Amino acid sequence: MSTKQKRFILPEDEIPKFWYNIQADMKNKPMPPLNPKTKDPLKPEDLYPLFAKELCHQELDMENAWIEIPETVREYYKYWRSTPLVRAYGLEKALGTPAHIYFKNESVSPIGSHKLNSAIAQAYYCKEEGVSNITTETGAGQWGAALSYAAKVFGLEAAVYQVKISYNQKPYRRSIMQTFGAQVTPSPSMSTRAGKDILTKTPNHQGSLGTAISEAIELARTTPNCKYTLGSVLSHVTLHQTIIGLEAEKQMEMAGEYPDIVIGCFGGGSNFGGICFPFMRHTIKEGRPTRFIAAEPSSCPKLTRGKFEYDYADEAGYTPLLPMYTLGHNFAPANIHAGGLRFHGAGVIVSQLLKDGLMEAMDLPQLETFECGCLFAQSEGIIPAPESCHAIAAAVREAKKCIETGEEKVILFNLSGHGLIDMASYDQYFAGNLVNHELKDEDIEKNLDEIRNLQ
Ligand SMILES: *Cc1c(COP(=O)(O)O)cnc(C)c1O
Repeated sequence: MSTKQKRFILPEDEIPKFWYNIQADMKNKPMPPLNPKTKDPLKPEDLYPLFAKELCHQELDMENAWIEIPETVREYYKYWRSTPLVRAYGLEKALGTPAHIYFKNESVSPIGSHKLNSAIAQAYYCKEEGVSNITTETGAGQWGAALSYAAKVFGLEAAVYQVKISYNQKPYRRSIMQTFGAQVTPSPSMSTRAGKDILTKTPNHQGSLGTAISEAIELARTTPNCKYTLGSVLSHVTLHQTIIGLEAEKQMEMAGEYPDIVIGCFGGGSNFGGICFPFMRHTIKEGRPTRFIAAEPSSCPKLTRGKFEYDYADEAGYTPLLPMYTLGHNFAPANIHAGGLRFHGAGVIVSQLLKDGLMEAMDLPQLETFECGCLFAQSEGIIPAPESCHAIAAAVREAKKCIETGEEKVILFNLSGHGLIDMASYDQYFAGNLVNHELKDEDIEKNLDEIRNLQ
């Protein structure tokens, strides 16, 4: 055995004290979100009814590159941070690649994914501002689980709308939310007008994140002292997730390397931005030639096949209009097992960065992601979340290219979560019941036609 170091961990006092706001450093700022009625650019105050005030300001902050992490939030981060940066020697050997593969292991958080980085922060700001109830939507249940725990930490009541297909596919995530004291409702439900409308049109609707967002927003609007929270897409969520990349930057230094390629799976962009933006700042400011790859499902390909348009983040059209790569808010993604990636749009920051060529996107078919997930489990001992399997599959593709070229590229990906509560999905894969969902151009065009000229 060699004495090569496997895991890199920061001591507690080296956990970053600031989040990184890439908006301050972007040459082309994201276009402004628009008020859906007046079409005027949104001001932070316009968002006050929905979100904690501090979060509204973080959302639209184009000036401050560094935002201090409140001390209380840092205290709770210590419950699982820093997360390990791991050199994937096992995966490298299994592939026979000369590439150096590293992953940042966000699966070690109490709820098993990166989502808690933002949940703790959002619940903290709500508590600070005297809020008593928070509500949200969840797909696979990762965000719902994170928010339920964060609500409990700060003594808030949490109500979670869970996408119906995930509610049924992943019963244990529901139990986890309930363990933390949250009230969980499958969405679409008859408890909101948005839910009723959808179920009247499509009684068998299996739900989507867009639908569940509409329901949670409606609850927040109609309940006193209740705020809405979102687990991805928005810029303040991605801001909180930059703790991942900021730690990774220090840890890569400990390893004596700097990544040539940084990869994150892509739902709304928060874990991707979280790991990439701290490295991308060196690309923007110093011209470092790093590639940033967003790994998305072929069945929900907003970055590779969507269009850059103003669109709503939810199915009912309650949210502001966001300038983003989108498949159209009426796009109903196939029932793939990576529930956290079944969202029609991308955050405004990543959308602008893609438009400006600072990042790239790769779409991956479901079967390839599970195949790579199993290879990763067998070679590194960690069963990845189906979402994270997309990042692994993208890393594997790049590592295989290095076999051909002989290059020792340094590849870093984010392991956004573990899959121990997703074993029903693995069962379906082993039983041969999973397929690759082919999307026809005309189906994508149909949804995009409906959103042209919304702004
Ligand atoms: C939610 C989730 C994702 C996708 O969300 P992003 O906002 O794109 O990060 C990825 N992986 C896991 C494990 C998740 O729970």
